[in-house]
Amino acid sequence: MADTQNMDSFRAELREWLEANCPDEMRGGGVTEDAICWGGKDWVFSSEAQKVWLERCAAKGYTVPTWPVEYGGAGMTRDQEKVFMSEMARIDARTPLQSFGIWMLGPALLHFGSHEQKLHYLPPIARGEVRWCQGYSEPGAGSDLANVQTFGEDKGDHWLVNGQKIWTSYADKADQIFALVRTDREAKKHLGISFLLIDMEDPGVETRPIKMISGISPFCETFFTDVKVPKDRIVGTPNRGWDVAKYLLTHEREMISGSGALEAGGRALGAVLSDTLDELDATLKADAMRCEIDALAMGLTLERYKDQAEAGQGAGDASAMLKYMGTELNKQRHELMMTAGGSAALEWDGEVGNRAGDWLRTKANSIEGGTSEVMLSIVSRRVLGLPA
Ligand SMILES: Cc1cc2nc3c(=O)[nH]c(=O)nc-3n(C[C@H](O)[C@H](O)[C@H](O)COP(=O)(O)OP(=O)(O)OC[C@H]3O[C@@H](n4cnc5c(N)ncnc54)[C@H](O)[C@@H]3O)c2cc1C
Repeated sequence: MADTQNMDSFRAELREWLEANCPDEMRGGGVTEDAICWGGKDWVFSSEAQKVWLERCAAKGYTVPTWPVEYGGAGMTRDQEKVFMSEMARIDARTPLQSFGIWMLGPALLHFGSHEQKLHYLPPIARGEVRWCQGYSEPGAGSDLANVQTFGEDKGDHWLVNGQKIWTSYADKADQIFALVRTDREAKKHLGISFLLIDMEDPGVETRPIKMISGISPFCETFFTDVKVPKDRIVGTPNRGWDVAKYLLTHEREMISGSGALEAGGRALGAVLSDTLDELDATLKADAMRCEIDALAMGLTLERYKDQAEAGQGAGDASAMLKYMGTELNKQRHELMMTAGGSAALEWDGEVGNRAGDWLRTKANSIEGGTSEVMLSIVSRRVLGLPA
């Protein structure tokens, strides 16, 4: 009873704070690029309200509600976080900040970083002051990620890094990169990799945007030529970066899986299709309902895994299952919206936020963060324990 009372007063305080502090312009707005705040040194806010909303949330630790207060979070328990999310959803508040620092590097640092590293790197992530990108994939290392060839030569007080990354999302806009770098060529491939933190402004770091058929360039090739990386810019132990890399991927996969989940009270497919729902034929209507129920089940499953996880630990190998289900569902959902929209849905202005553009973007969901085929392999071996 006492706990319920505590939670009720927690909710009431939160509701009051959100009502008083969330600017009207930061309520609603969907997922268009304009509505998203990525933060970073060179971030240009889309409005004064976006800036104010980020600053107010960061001051309360609400950009990373479950991180410890000393590292920029609000120290919320999982139950408190759920209340926070539901109160944000109640007023349709925009996420004040999203970033690879929050979704990926932060959890890895919380688990593997030293206290000094946490104090140094986490608060700027929480305040949206530093934008991180992910330097994992290389031309010869995608699904076979442990095959990375970017090499860091030991020079005593630093590594001299040379090599190339590819598909580095927003590398041209990022301030820092967390990168997998081979630091021992003699060891087995999984045992010779270090997890290094590199400043994108360091001499020798260069990015070249990759232009897609749609005309936009969401990712880059990233080149390292004789880049000096000080020895303290490593997470975890030298040559044991694979452990950090895998742990980070479980958080990335869990995050991506959310694309297919429908939270109770979320924007249902029926609502999105409401203009045309009556005109849909019976088969399409049934498909839409099935997709909706699956998305709701996916949302509940995701919540269950988050509840089960130890504080901040994530879903482990089961994140592969969640990622597979979530991304395949999101693809189905967008296929259905395209079918229901008919030829009008093909209207295309090349921007994110239109139906055709969003549908094409979902094609990448089952590639980024590890492909569906690779997710199924992980599920069969590590979750179900089937023979290789
Ligand atoms: C939108 C987007 C954003 C991305 N952002 C980043 C980023 O920020 N940083 C980063 O480092 N990377 C990023 N990536 C890269 C992504 O991680 C890789 O594309 C992904 O891991 C697949 O690697 P690959 O493209 O080399 O394909 P490959 O590994 O060459 O795979 C090609 C095909 O072969 C299949 N295949 C390969 N091996 C197996 C196997 N053992 N069993 C069964 N099938 C197999 C795959 O499933 C796939 O269908 C991004 C990708 C996308 C699409």
